[in-house]
Amino acid sequence: MIDTYIAELVRYALDKGLIAADDKVWAANRLLDALGLDRWEAPEPGAPRPLEDILKDILDWAVANGRIEDGVASRDLLDTELMGRLTPRPSEVRRDFWKRYAQSPEAATDWYYTFSQDTDYIRRYRIVKDMKWVTPTEYGDLDITVNLSKPEKDPRAIAAAKNAPQNAYPACQLCVENEGYAGRLDHPARQNHRLIPLTLDGQDWFFQYSPYVYYNEHCIVLNRRHVPMKIDRSTFRRQMDFLRRFPHYFLGSNADLPIVGGSILSHDHFQGGRYTFAMERAPVETPVCFPGYEDVQAGIVKWPMSVLRIRCEDPHRLVDLADRILAAWRSYSDPAAEIYAETKGEPHNTITPIARMRDGQFELDLVLRNNRTSERYPLGIFHPHQELHHIKKENIGLIEVMGLAVLPARLKGELAALGDVLVSGGDVRADEVLAKHGDWADDLREKYSFTAENVLPILQDEVGKVFAQVLEHAGVYKRTGEGRDAFLRFVESV
Ligand SMILES: [Zn+2]
Repeated sequence: MIDTYIAELVRYALDKGLIAADDKVWAANRLLDALGLDRWEAPEPGAPRPLEDILKDILDWAVANGRIEDGVASRDLLDTELMGRLTPRPSEVRRDFWKRYAQSPEAATDWYYTFSQDTDYIRRYRIVKDMKWVTPTEYGDLDITVNLSKPEKDPRAIAAAKNAPQNAYPACQLCVENEGYAGRLDHPARQNHRLIPLTLDGQDWFFQYSPYVYYNEHCIVLNRRHVPMKIDRSTFRRQMDFLRRFPHYFLGSNADLPIVGGSILSHDHFQGGRYTFAMERAPVETPVCFPGYEDVQAGIVKWPMSVLRIRCEDPHRLVDLADRILAAWRSYSDPAAEIYAETKGEPHNTITPIARMRDGQFELDLVLRNNRTSERYPLGIFHPHQELHHIKKENIGLIEVMGLAVLPARLKGELAALGDVLVSGGDVRADEVLAKHGDWADDLREKYSFTAENVLPILQDEVGKVFAQVLEHAGVYKRTGEGRDAFLRFVESV
């Protein structure tokens, strides 16, 4: 049967335009080589099947015939190797991308996004397994996802990671050296990965999609060099340069300090894409004016976190004002509002900036962040507090700031199990895994009477409400009269 699977894979690559008719014999031979075969019969493939099924059959064959050990890490290494052998070279991909860009930026990104899925760099069939729902709140419709598409690491992969050398190659998962890399048990294979070079603010950067797709056309824009995250004037200039080239995408950056930053602080990068988050839909509720910048519209956004929105036709003016706001915030303290720019020489203030075009104007949302901790809040004062950790205790990064919760995979099983206990009237705290949801479950029992039909929708809705609270905790200015006054004191200081 392996002969048939190879024929099916070659036909798939031909159908998707990864190879041309002239490449068929060559491509089949490249696959034979990767599978340790020296001959085949070249049968006619039957009715087309999904890529996932073809690859699964090949991987099962490889396990049964001793080519690889069974396990998700080994399987991912082999099927990426196979797809890499069917993926055009970087120079060809880049030429195709810019050829389409000459028609329109959308034509280029539409093609590249489809290409990134067809090569299986984005594993479509894993993404569709993610749980997703929308919860209406006073801040608009928040998106909630339970991310199941990042594969669970198998124990051998974790052991290999433990023994990895400090001077790793590639230095991290964002480095350009990943393009074409064969991977290891502790580092994903990327033979089918292709990058598009860009010049941003006069420097070499690269454009790619995220293999995990948290939202539509989720892209990553990364520095050519493995240098740490740093928010400064150049960050805003790069965002404006990107919007000029891709006006249909937004581009945001994580903050550059731990706790309030993303999961990768060691490699400067942005995340963007073609998706409208609740934050973008949220209106300005308090217009403000910065003297000397009367041409820039500005205001505080109706959002649980503390957001200044500025908008202008002229991107240079926007960069100028953003830089002033950043400089002012970096050194701003307001003890009455618990905000200290530094303690013991360690800086705490930074910004999560998000850029987009709106009605032909450049727009920047500047989210004020502070990463100070205290004895009472050892994980962060402006971070989800302990009582919410049963749902979310990880960093509140760029994507969540904008209103999309990326919740840990454990919640899928936990919500189902908790639902069963709530319906049966059992003791939540008697279960070792569910005990952490005990206080939450008590509150829910007072509010609802649960049935097998309503329990999961109610739990999902309540998770969405917890996420709104998570964002409120992460806001440096609370949505009270006092909080609003304190926010305006900062605006005044700019
Ligand atoms: Zn890197």
